[in-house]
Amino acid sequence: MTSASARRRRTARDAALAAAVGEGLLDARSPLVGLLDVDGVLAAVDRLHDAFRGPAAVQHTFAAKACSLVPVLRLLARAGMGCEVASPGELELALEAGFTADRLVFDSPAKTVGELRFALDQGIAFNVDNFQELERVDALLAGHTPRGPVGLRVNPQVGAGAIGAMSTATSTSKFGVALRDEGAVQAVVDAFAARPWLTRLHAHVGSQGCPLPLIAQGIRAAHELAEHINTALGRRQVTSLDIGGGLPVDFDSDEDRPGYADYVTELRAAVPELFDGRYSLVTEFGRSLLAKNGTIASLVEYTKSSGGRRIAVTHAGAQVATRTVFMPDAWPLRAGVYDAAGHPKRGATETVDIAGPCCFAGDLTAVARELPAVAPGDIVALYDTGAYYFSNHFSYNSLPRPAVHGYRADAEGRIRFALVRAAQTVREVVEESGAAQADALVGLLAADRPGSGAAHEDGAAA
Ligand SMILES: *Cc1c(COP(=O)(O)O)cnc(C)c1O
Repeated sequence: MTSASARRRRTARDAALAAAVGEGLLDARSPLVGLLDVDGVLAAVDRLHDAFRGPAAVQHTFAAKACSLVPVLRLLARAGMGCEVASPGELELALEAGFTADRLVFDSPAKTVGELRFALDQGIAFNVDNFQELERVDALLAGHTPRGPVGLRVNPQVGAGAIGAMSTATSTSKFGVALRDEGAVQAVVDAFAARPWLTRLHAHVGSQGCPLPLIAQGIRAAHELAEHINTALGRRQVTSLDIGGGLPVDFDSDEDRPGYADYVTELRAAVPELFDGRYSLVTEFGRSLLAKNGTIASLVEYTKSSGGRRIAVTHAGAQVATRTVFMPDAWPLRAGVYDAAGHPKRGATETVDIAGPCCFAGDLTAVARELPAVAPGDIVALYDTGAYYFSNHFSYNSLPRPAVHGYRADAEGRIRFALVRAAQTVREVVEESGAAQADALVGLLAADRPGSGAAHEDGAAA
């Protein structure tokens, strides 16, 4: 059974692909674009808010790294979200998007003194990763009380999900204070006892690949620790729990499953007291809000056969689908074939590999897929790429960042586009590659050997 939301998503996406061709957003001059379903994003935000409605106050923040584009962040701000940032760049993007300090959460395992000072000055909430960082905060505060909430990130060490690199709650994870390590719980209690301004615990158990029961177990551990701290201190010092993000996404269909409601059901079963209102909650979802609302579309430049293997060469490779290309088993994407007018192709199928433009053999976004026969000039769409794909460019082969367009379908199904990010020009690639310093290294040779600068040139000519 296809749900109404999956049907809407597919219909709007197909209409957007045809409209992108019709309006010249996807053509020989711009053979690669990212497309973003604005209504899909807003619907996801609504489902998130609905799922958590209850006595507990909840601040939902969007993990900026999942789609670090200013118009997307502003849309989410308008929809009532806060923003979780983890670097000075993300922080600046969020401020540019219009998030006020009270709607930001700053997480990073490597916060510098300058970044901590900025967060404290602005009253931005942040989660301390470790005890050394806590001492830095002490020094910066010099006895004052922070204006914004300050939390401590803990690692409940509940184990890994299906993708090691996405699992933040393994026994040896680099994030947070490892709770099951010898003496860790007491050290955390002592840290809170000494710092009445430390009022939050943070646990982000992992991202894609972590099953809901594992995430719930991690949050349960954080809740238990909060109760333990408050009991040990004889006061309700821990007042909020930041439960992170990590709701996994189904990359096999157009369905949003599991949904936020499923997630909350799982949490209610594992930690019923979590929602009783004694703690306010913070969430930090990324992928589950954006992934299924994005599509990468590329023209097919060539098709060929090699040793019996069919290959379609497109413009979408490791630069926009980095994880899929380097870890194809962990990050498979669905692909769809459209004709040159942007209509879904039907008819005879073939087994084909979808390749990207990068100069290494593994630059494949789909392998051995049964798809309608692909021809040059067709379009290949990579679905579910709204999070961590076109927004997280990898500048391999000096390939430029593609344009990203947001779209909405009106009641008659007509598509309206808005430019979210302009395509990077080749000139901009040259400039960010040190063009202004073109003479730097050659100049170093000359400066190195006063009076003998010609020796190198002689050597080169010999
Ligand atoms: C990446 C990250 C998130 C978001 O994870 P998703 O899987 O995209 O929901 C939330 N919190 C922290 C601390 C993160 O590092």
